[in-house]
Amino acid sequence: MPIAIMWHRRDLRLHDNAALYYALKAGRPVLPLFIFDKDILDHLDDKRDRRVEFIYKYVLKLQDELQQMGSSLIVRYGRPLEVFQDLAKEYEITNVFTNYDYETYAKGRDAEVAAFLKTVGAGFHSYKDQTLFDRDEVLSGSGKPYTVFGPYSRNWLGKLADPFYLKSYPTEKYFDRLEKTQPLPMVTLTDMGFEGLGENFPKPTVDDALLKQYQKMRDYPAERGTSELGIHLRFGTISIRDLARQAQETSPTFLSELCWRDFYFQVLDHFPHVEQHAFRREYDNIKFLNRPEDIERWEQGMTGYPLVDAGMRQLNETGWMHNRVRMVVASFCIKHLLIDWRIGEAYFAKKLRDYDLAANNGGWQWAAGSGTDAAPYFRVFNPTAQAEKFDPKGEYIRRWVPEYNSLDYPAPIIDHAFARQRVVEMYKEGLKKE
Ligand code: FAD
Repeated sequence: MPIAIMWHRRDLRLHDNAALYYALKAGRPVLPLFIFDKDILDHLDDKRDRRVEFIYKYVLKLQDELQQMGSSLIVRYGRPLEVFQDLAKEYEITNVFTNYDYETYAKGRDAEVAAFLKTVGAGFHSYKDQTLFDRDEVLSGSGKPYTVFGPYSRNWLGKLADPFYLKSYPTEKYFDRLEKTQPLPMVTLTDMGFEGLGENFPKPTVDDALLKQYQKMRDYPAERGTSELGIHLRFGTISIRDLARQAQETSPTFLSELCWRDFYFQVLDHFPHVEQHAFRREYDNIKFLNRPEDIERWEQGMTGYPLVDAGMRQLNETGWMHNRVRMVVASFCIKHLLIDWRIGEAYFAKKLRDYDLAANNGGWQWAAGSGTDAAPYFRVFNPTAQAEKFDPKGEYIRRWVPEYNSLDYPAPIIDHAFARQRVVEMYKEGLKKE
């Protein structure tokens, strides 16, 4: 019996899922699939990875929901192309439906899979699902992608006023079109060489009460003032449309953060060179010091600047760091220690449970001054002043750096005034070369 395949990736949910909706509507029985991508997993050195554990947990949930409806999820561990080559021997596949991914690796992977499917007479269809707007939906008056957030966000907000864009896809209406099958066998974390940490992940919802206080509370790392939904948005365990509707009714500031998220996806999509290079190419001329002992002290939270150290220790221990502190530690890494932003970016990529290439790259290039909305390079965060302003009672610092103010705490790794002057001169020199 010919079937269609719904390939889940960053969309581990059945509710309000664009590709699943179109797959079900197309008429053939639909069999959902998730692939633990060997090419990605093999690159993770730490086999106790929170993201892998999170994915596994939600894959199990999908499996359970599908089995309750008499269907099942195919779960494989391998290289996507090879998995599809195998599946094409087991099933008569008519079409594969999936949601679009904006990263260069993913685009290449999808092109390869689509080319293979064509050889067996199957179609490949992808849809916008993880963003509110993508590709060429929000362009400047001259038809070009925006490179500055302000005008992008005005255009984006204007479009969002049309409720059409926030409508959920009513997948539930067509669940009877899922392929009926016995439960299919699943790989386990151990089969893939991973171990669970028994992590308690944040819930996939946010209360209206938190969103109503968001603008007031979001900058204070000692408070629980942000949604901690990053990991759910990253793996699509909540719907961006549901969340944006809730934000429209409760918090324009929160909605604006979802706009930043879309913005960085569209930057990555239109300017893929940012994955390796400065968005503003001339910033690639800057020569960083990259001293191994500085990198080590920054990573371990031992710089002697308490807000920086608190942030890095929060990251190392929990896989999450507050946004205000992300800005401070990134700036410190690049501008105080003269460490290449790509080194800091890679460390965040390894540790952050909500790691997302587009937003992480955007955040790091912003801090480096080389990105779209970059802070001018001569603006250097003062980590002590930031701590006084955003952690005035020192609660956040004491939570993560208990030995602060004792003899065990290191002296500052560098003097702020000296570092400030040094980085300004270095940037000036580097940028002169253009
Ligand atoms: P909330 O404040 O509750 O915001 C809700 C959601 O909006 C977030 O989950 C996120 O999806 C989105 N969002 C908020 N701020 C931004 C932003 N500035 N840019 C893009 N999207 C945003 N965000 C990531 O999702 N993944 C990353 O890897 C990442 N790396 C970052 C690196 C640096 C150096 C900086 C300065 C920021 C980074 N951010 C990243 C953005 C932001 O810090 C996080 O999204 C936020 O702290 C996550 O916590 P939350 O879910 O409680 O966010």
